[in-house]
Amino acid sequence: MVIKKTRTSKKTRTSFGVRYGFRLRKKYAAVKEKTKSNVCIVCGHNKVKRVSLGIWLCKKCGAKFAGKAYTTQ
Ligand SMILES: [Zn+2]
Repeated sequence: MVIKKTRTSKKTRTSFGVRYGFRLRKKYAAVKEKTKSNVCIVCGHNKVKRVSLGIWLCKKCGAKFAGKAYTTQ
């Protein structure tokens, strides 16, 4: 008996997102979408990165400031 190999996707995941559950994935996508529009409160550039929970670092001006968990404001 020959067992056919099932097609496996070779797409590598770039981030550790939610994998299972439609609702969770939907929520994660919404949060992820929000983080894209985060702007620095000092210079206004869209170059902020989250250092820790609620702590944001601007790559443009180097400002470190407190914000919300997933958004800067
Ligand atoms: Zn800045």
